[in-house]
Amino acid sequence: MNRALRKAVIAGNWKMNKTPSETTALINEIKPLVASASCGVVVCVPYVDLQNALEATKGSNIEVGAENCHWKENGAYTGEISAVMLKEMGVKYVIIGHSERRQYFGETDVTVNMRVRAALDAGLTVILCVGELLEEREQGITFEVVSKQTKIALSGVSEEELKRIIVAYEPVWAIGTGRTATAEQANEVNAAIRSVIAGLYGAEAADGVTIQYGGSMNDQNADELLSQPDVDGGLIGGASLVASKFAAIVKAADR
Ligand code: PEP
Repeated sequence: MNRALRKAVIAGNWKMNKTPSETTALINEIKPLVASASCGVVVCVPYVDLQNALEATKGSNIEVGAENCHWKENGAYTGEISAVMLKEMGVKYVIIGHSERRQYFGETDVTVNMRVRAALDAGLTVILCVGELLEEREQGITFEVVSKQTKIALSGVSEEELKRIIVAYEPVWAIGTGRTATAEQANEVNAAIRSVIAGLYGAEAADGVTIQYGGSMNDQNADELLSQPDVDGGLIGGASLVASKFAAIVKAADR
C-alpha cells in the first residue's frame, strides 16, 4: 500500500458471535498484543456488546464499530438501531452493506446508500462493503458489479465526507469459505475501486481512501495480501475472533 497517502486499518467483524462478557474477555486478550500497532485497529461487534467493547477498549488504541445501522434517526422501526444512537454511545465506525446483510436481509445498493448517508450525518466512519458473487466473477463482470455498488453507495457523499469512508472489497465467494482471493485478484479489484472513486472525486481524493480486502484473511495469508499496493488493510471475520490471529494480521499490516 502507499503508506504516505493513506492509513492501513485492520477491522474485525465479529458477526453474531460473543456475548457481552465474552467481548470483554476477548478485547482484554487482544489489547496487549496490538498496543504498539501503527495501523488502525477496530473491532466491530454486535449491538449488545458495544458497551462492553467501549469500556474494555478505553485508553487503548482499539476503536469500536457496529455491524450495521438504520437510515432513520428514530421512529417506528422495531428492532432497529440508528446511527445517532451509536454515535452517542461513543462508537466510531459502522460496517455497511456487508454481503451477509445483502444476502440474508434484503439489503440493496439503495438502502446501503441510505445507511451510508445516515452514518455520515451522525459523524461515524463507514466501512462500506462491496464485492461480487462467484457467478459474477465467472461471468467476468466483477469490475462492473463493484463499480455499480461503489457508485450507488457513494451517491450524495461529498469529498469532505469521503474522508470518513473506508471501502472493504469482499468477494462473496471468499467470505467464511477459507477460499481467499489471490493477492493479485485482491489488488486488481481494489485498484479498480480506487479508479471508480477517482472518477467521482479526482485522483488525489481517491489516493487518500483506505481500501481493505476481506474474505478469509488470516495470520497465514495476511502478509502477502497486505503487501499489495492497493490493499490498505483488512476486514476480518473468523480470524478476528482469535486474539493471536487477529494480532498477527495487525502486525502484518504494520510491516
Ligand atoms: C467478513 O465477514 O467480513 C469476512 C471477511 O469474513 P471471513 O474473514 O471469515 O471470511
